[in-house]
Amino acid sequence: MKGDQDWGVYYARLLTKAKERHQHKLKIRPKSDLLWFWKTLSFLLKMITFGKGPSLYDSFFTVIGRTIWLPGEGEGWEKSSWFYKYTVMSHEIDHLDYCYFGDSDIRDIDHNEVKDWKEKEAAWYWKFWYNFKYLFWPFPIFWAYGRQDIEIRGYRRNIEAHLHRNGRLGEGMKIFLYQQFASSNYLWMATPRRAEELIQTEIDAVKKAHAENKLRFG
Ligand SMILES: [Zn+2]
Repeated sequence: MKGDQDWGVYYARLLTKAKERHQHKLKIRPKSDLLWFWKTLSFLLKMITFGKGPSLYDSFFTVIGRTIWLPGEGEGWEKSSWFYKYTVMSHEIDHLDYCYFGDSDIRDIDHNEVKDWKEKEAAWYWKFWYNFKYLFWPFPIFWAYGRQDIEIRGYRRNIEAHLHRNGRLGEGMKIFLYQQFASSNYLWMATPRRAEELIQTEIDAVKKAHAENKLRFG
């Protein structure tokens, strides 16, 4: 069990490492900075989801390129707990690492390992494939295995942090994850059955890693 200050330390370390690795091109900005773009995209998404999806502008953190966009004017962000900030950023940075370097996470690297951060970025076709896979592979909805794969890697970070902080995972976590995978939130990226299987498999894997003391933070 960890206090919020500990998560503040993890958060700072995570961000420092990520900025180094991404050659200080990583930016965090509120969506209100590019209002017309996010409002337009938000509107289009509402149309595609028949008005069901939550607002992309107000409710979601989104990565495009190396910018992590905060919902709305970012007003809630500063007031959030360190734990919350950590869970959000570890998820988003996971996407960044996967897109730009093709590996899933810098926190899996042992704390004592000296890492050469000047390693080469993935080739352009990998980044193209990542985005194509996220949006369309092999289908944009229900059987969106590409998006499922990328998002479950991100949500694994959320599961890990919750388990580490609380020592257990409640039903609420499963319900939350199910909503992400089987609802309009991510354009129905999985069928209900597939969503349940995917989430259970990931939860089991995280519990195993937790029991073996293999989880790393910060
Ligand atoms: Zn994500």
